[in-house]
Order: sequence, then C-alpha cells, then structure tokens
Amino acid sequence: MSSDNRGLCTRTIHGTQPPDSATGAILTPIYQSTTFVQEAVGVHKGFTYSRAANPTVSALEDVLGSLETAPTLCFSTGMAAISTLFLSILKQGDHVIISDVVYGGTVRLFRQVLEGFGARVSFVDTSNVTAVAAAVEPRTKLIFIETPANPTLKLTDIAAVSSVARKAGVLLAVDNTFLTAALQPVFELGADISVLSTTKYIEGHNATVGGSLATKDEALLERFRLVRKTIGCIQSPLESWLTQRGLKTLSMRLERHSQNALAVANWLEQHPTVKRVSYPGLRSFPQHELACRQHAAHGGMLSFEVNGGTPAALELMKSVKLCSLAENLGAAETLITHPASMTHADIPPETRVALGIPDGLIRLSVGLEDASDIIADLEQALEKAESCSTERSAACA
Ligand code: PLP
Repeated sequence: MSSDNRGLCTRTIHGTQPPDSATGAILTPIYQSTTFVQEAVGVHKGFTYSRAANPTVSALEDVLGSLETAPTLCFSTGMAAISTLFLSILKQGDHVIISDVVYGGTVRLFRQVLEGFGARVSFVDTSNVTAVAAAVEPRTKLIFIETPANPTLKLTDIAAVSSVARKAGVLLAVDNTFLTAALQPVFELGADISVLSTTKYIEGHNATVGGSLATKDEALLERFRLVRKTIGCIQSPLESWLTQRGLKTLSMRLERHSQNALAVANWLEQHPTVKRVSYPGLRSFPQHELACRQHAAHGGMLSFEVNGGTPAALELMKSVKLCSLAENLGAAETLITHPASMTHADIPPETRVALGIPDGLIRLSVGLEDASDIIADLEQALEKAESCSTERSAACA
C-alpha cells in the first residue's frame, strides 16, 4: 500500500478495487447479507458472517486504506473505532495520555466507562511536548492526540510527540477527523495509528455515521479485528457504500472547504463584533508556522469569539439563516455550534474557559456553498448579535 504512488484523487476514487467479479459493476454492490454459503466446512471466499467481514465494508476499507497508506478497518461510528482502540490496547492499571482539548465523547468514554475497569488517563496539553514527556509513566501504553483540536483548533506537533512516544516505547494514535490523510498524512509524521470519524469529511454529506482505525502494525490490526468482531461494531454494508461514494470526492471537497474557510476567517477577522478568530491558515494563528509544516491545507473548521459572551453568541445562532445550527461537522452544509451550551456544556465553566472555550466562542464547519453567501449570512446575524452585546436588549436570548 505504501508503494502506491498514484495521486490522492485517483486513490480515493479507485483504491485497488477491481470491478465486481460477479457482474462487472463498477461500484461494489451493497452486499446486504448476514451470512455467506460455504462450499465445504471452512472453504469459502473470505466471508462467513457480516459481524466479522462483509464485501461492501471491505471495499470501503480498501479505498480508505489507499488514502491512509495503511491497512484500515471500518466501524459503525467514530466512537466505536475509538472504543475498539482502547479496549485492544489497555489492561487494568494501564495509563493513557490524551490531549486536554479533545472530542467530548472520548473524555466520556474514559471518565464514565473505562476508569470503572481500572484504566487510567492524564489529560495533557499535548501542544506542549515537554508536558507530554513529563506525563509518561511506567504503565503508559498509548498517547492519543487530536489535532487540530475541537473546537479551539489548537495543534499538536505530531512529529515531536512521535519522537517522545518512540523513546518511551509507547504507541501514538492521532484522531485526524478534522483534516484526514488528504491534508495531514499522519503516518509520514510518525503516528502508529490513525483514527477517523468517517461521519465527517470522509463521507461528507451528513448521511452516515462511521469510524475507522488504520495501522501498519499487523499484530495490532489483528487485535483491532478481533475486538471489533467480539464486541460487534463493524460498519454496515449500506453505510459503507454511502461512505465510499462520499470518499470519491474528498480531495476536491477539502480544497473547496479550505478556500471557503480562509475567506470566511479573513472576513471575520475584520469584523468589529469579533474578538478573535482561530483558523490555522491565518497568519495571526499562534501556531501558523506548525500548521504550514503539518498540513497540506487547513480544512473547513474554524472558531471565533464574539463580544458579548453567551447572550450575543445565542443571538447569532438564532439569527443565522443559511448556516444550520447543528452539532455535526465536515459536510456540504455550513454548520454552526455554540460549544459552551452545546458540545462542551458538561465541562465546568472555569475549566472550559481555561481550555480556551469561553462563553462567546462559536464553532463553524464551513461548507461548500458560495463563500459570499456564507459571509452574507454571518454579516446579518452578527449585526443582531452586535446590538445584543452593546444594548443587552431584553429581546436577546
Ligand atoms: N473524533 C472527533 C474529532 C469528533 O469530532 C467526533 C464526533 O464529533 C468523533 C471522534 C466521534 O465520531 P462519531 O460521532 O462518528 O462517533
């Protein structure tokens, strides 16, 4: 797989898949079948039962593997992939280092499930490599980073953390959901495992939930396969087919997402109601130099802080017309969220603010519409938020 020198678009369209062997169909059909008839006991075509493997899922894994440049397994959700990762590696008493700003479901998985089985976690500012090295313990088995992080866009230097992990004999997993291997080739930067919520940019159309794990370590891949089969969290044939269809346009979509996000970020930066904008492609972004080293382009996610805190933020959310108030990201439609009252509402306010998620922070997943229309929508909504922040009008949320 790593010897595949074809371009990104070619790999995400074709993978290494031949046309369907039974019919010549150019798209692998949806093999909606639980089981596969065996010619004799143990003699079959590689498929026996769809909890273990299914031809449509395998077709998606082939194409996604071509993008990842590593063998890949697909799961029913991103959280199923992350759960499989932890369950495959950790035993009671083992320890994991996780980025302090990370998807809330990953925090919940540890705090509310895995700690009950005796696994231990340190949430660390992984943008600080010295802090990562200092957090390694004798029983640390895995460093799990999310970069760019959700919703602050804070970056972790993957190559630098990889050298800490190598020295300590610890595995490094990167949640690459925001950029994917199309923009951030994590294996080239030293990761051992790539984690994706395929729900986002990979499928890209707000139509499926899914996840994946990729690794070049064969023993680890077999362990992931065993755990997936045992707990029963493989992707379904229909979702796999839809995801593969979305994946064919990933490269073009990410190019457009990146162009639109930069245009919106530049515009927001000039707006008087906006305190600050976080987008790795902006020169003002504190880690812009690292972003340029680590990313081929900077993707469609940005966040910005409005003056006036929660009331102004909620007024903005109420006033948008084209942008949809929704918690997903990475799809054709522009989606807007208010982390303090939505995705990060469970975190105590002082901790949330210390992590860089103040009351006025807005997360925007910039879609594929015309950038001028996204900007026009934000302009009219910011006007309402602005009057809210200056007048503190009773009409404000
Ligand atoms: N990782 C990141 C960065 C996410 O944003 C999400 C979901 O929002 C997940 C993992 C979990 O993925 P899923 O919702 O597909 O389970």
